[in-house]
Amino acid sequence: MRLTGRRESNNVDDRRGMGMGTKAGIGGIGGIILIALITFLSGGDMGDVVNNVLQQELQGPTEVQTGGQQHQFSAEEEKLANFSKQILAGTEDVWTEQFQLHGMRYQYPTLVLYTGAVQTACGDGSAAMGPFYCSADQRLYLDLSFFSGMRKDLGLKAKGDLDFAYAYVIAHEVGHHVEYLRGILGECHAKMARVNKEEANKLSVKLELLADYYAGCWAHYDNEKYQSLTDGDIEEAIDCAEKIGDNYLQKKARGYAMPETFTHGTSEQRMYWLKKGIETGDWNTTTFSPSDLD
Ligand SMILES: [Zn+2]
Repeated sequence: MRLTGRRESNNVDDRRGMGMGTKAGIGGIGGIILIALITFLSGGDMGDVVNNVLQQELQGPTEVQTGGQQHQFSAEEEKLANFSKQILAGTEDVWTEQFQLHGMRYQYPTLVLYTGAVQTACGDGSAAMGPFYCSADQRLYLDLSFFSGMRKDLGLKAKGDLDFAYAYVIAHEVGHHVEYLRGILGECHAKMARVNKEEANKLSVKLELLADYYAGCWAHYDNEKYQSLTDGDIEEAIDCAEKIGDNYLQKKARGYAMPETFTHGTSEQRMYWLKKGIETGDWNTTTFSPSDLD
């Protein structure tokens, strides 16, 4: 991506190295429900949440030490923090303009950068859950170590920087915020509470694919305004979308996929909607509207 000279967003709450302020334990069945609820509320991404909590239970409650000592950030981490603020600023510019064009007002979400564990209005969050959005406080939560994990664990094809794949992750969470502002997230969560698990999973997939689509629409307009995309960027994000598809992750983790447990969509679906968003930018039409959630 070409980001030289781009502004950084001020809507960032930098809590890196601060811990949670108190010793916090996640464990027991309550922990599972709580964590599952956060994921449910937020569309938390890419973490195999239940597995993670079960693992934590086997190891006993996780203790998060009180912050206090100064945390030193590496140059690499500072670069990622600045990058994230630039991408967030890009989403603010694009969505403000797009909402205005359609007679709506965009409200900025806040990006919370944290290390390890964090308190949110949706409950306690942890880095193992991956980046997530909490609609109760309209905040996006991101532990920057997620990006090095992506590079290490996803086996992405790109050998150079993965900036646009990272931007896609942030824009996807902003996509959930756009869903929230449009009333889609609330409507969908209300429906999810009334139906069985399998039906709820299907609705979750729709929310996730819509967030992918909105991420693509953001990239479409960001590139139109700032010529931000460079050669290989789109392929890099599409490759990422493929490798975070439910079928791909499940096959990798246990050798087979269980479609009824999918919550984020298949590789094909994720690639399709991201690409369609990038190509069309057509976010406010009936291509993928709230009525599709029925
Ligand atoms: Zn999501």
